Amino acid sequence: MNSVEGVLVAGGGVVGLTAALSLAQRGVPVTVFEAESELVKEYRASTFHPPTLEMLDDLGVAEELISKGLVADRVQYRDRTEGMIAEFDLGLLKNDTPYPFRLQVEQYALALLLLEKLQQLPNAEVLFTHRVTDVSQENDSVIATAETAHGVQQYQGSYLVGADGGQSAVRHALDIGFEGLTYPERYLVTFTTFDFDAHMPDLTHVNYVSDPEEWFVLLRSPGLWRVLFPARPEDAEATGEALDKIAQARYQRVIATGVPYPILYRAIYTVHQRIASTYRKGRALLAGDAAHLNNPLGGMGLNGGIHDAVNLGGKLAKVWHGEAGEEMLDAYAEERRKIAAEHVLAHTHQNHSNISQTDRESRKRQQDEMKKTAADPELAYRYVLRISMIESIRATSGV
Ligand SMILES: Cc1cc2nc3c(=O)[nH]c(=O)nc-3n(C[C@H](O)[C@H](O)[C@H](O)COP(=O)(O)OP(=O)(O)OC[C@H]3O[C@@H](n4cnc5c(N)ncnc54)[C@H](O)[C@@H]3O)c2cc1C
Repeated sequence: MNSVEGVLVAGGGVVGLTAALSLAQRGVPVTVFEAESELVKEYRASTFHPPTLEMLDDLGVAEELISKGLVADRVQYRDRTEGMIAEFDLGLLKNDTPYPFRLQVEQYALALLLLEKLQQLPNAEVLFTHRVTDVSQENDSVIATAETAHGVQQYQGSYLVGADGGQSAVRHALDIGFEGLTYPERYLVTFTTFDFDAHMPDLTHVNYVSDPEEWFVLLRSPGLWRVLFPARPEDAEATGEALDKIAQARYQRVIATGVPYPILYRAIYTVHQRIASTYRKGRALLAGDAAHLNNPLGGMGLNGGIHDAVNLGGKLAKVWHGEAGEEMLDAYAEERRKIAAEHVLAHTHQNHSNISQTDRESRKRQQDEMKKTAADPELAYRYVLRISMIESIRATSGV
């Protein structure tokens, strides 16, 4: 048994690294266990909302991350046949945040910055090739079992943060349920260097294009566009050349160029809306995808995970330093679970319903509502507070 002072963190993705940095900067010793042999080059998320940037500023990484990304100051909603429906100016948030925009940059860029910061701290350690397979608890400690290059090892610490992603071994070991649903429809995610700007006038960096069958999302990050489509049922299991062909055909229906698009990446994802039945079991806590999964429409999954990690880091540091009792950990678990259920899952599910609405009348009603919202300064302001996740942060106590 390896005795480790402080907090064990399972998972060296963005959420685990954020939790670890938040704790370490508050003087708590941390050890991160990452299953892979190096940082995973993860391209999934590309959007960072204003409250996330404020939190990253407190951690000392916002400025550098912003310098690597694109500032999206407007969000557009379009209809595939009708064109522009509404545009929202995130500048309306200028009195609410120093960052009245969405930052578009790959999540890997943030993971690298967090890891660099963490590795500069004497009270933080990141152990790669350490896959946590089991968790057990005693009165005053928690024990993580990990598969490592040197065989199975056990580590005993004061608390454990499970930030090991959607398949979370920690969540399974703690026997915590993961309630919710899996969409029957899968999503096709693609990246291209194609210059959409040259073909679609007035395009912003963030565009949601609705259609009963062929909706898509166009998100720009440095050097590429990420295009997300619903996968047709008959295409859902496609791989290899068949998938290349499908992706090319979908692109041709966005803009028919007659020549193959430069597609750098394509994959079909299963999409879940799920939440852990509790975020705390004794000395073990869940954060990020281990605690909640949602569809990517609105870019809230990783952002919500970072909000978990920072909220938990502040609270757990107080408990570890003896400045607060363990009820503070219940406060984390309850408030962040409530936010995930009532804001993140609800809002992303609504986004899915809106963008894929098939009923003609309902589509028209939604689009009229969206136009009305965009045209009314007060409604537009309230709308951007919600989509930028400021509203969800204001619903929590903070630390
Ligand atoms: C197509 C797509 C687009 C998305 N776009 C956005 C977006 O724009 N904005 C947004 O906010 N979110 C977005 N998301 C969601 C976002 O990518 C996830 O919410 C985010 O990656 C979760 O971070 P995490 O650190 O909790 O988990 P992960 O990123 O999954 O990281 C978990 C880490 O734990 C490691 N690990 C796994 N098991 C173990 C184990 N047993 N022991 C030790 N280590 C382990 C993994 O190797 C990994 O490094 C998107 C998702 C998809 C699918």
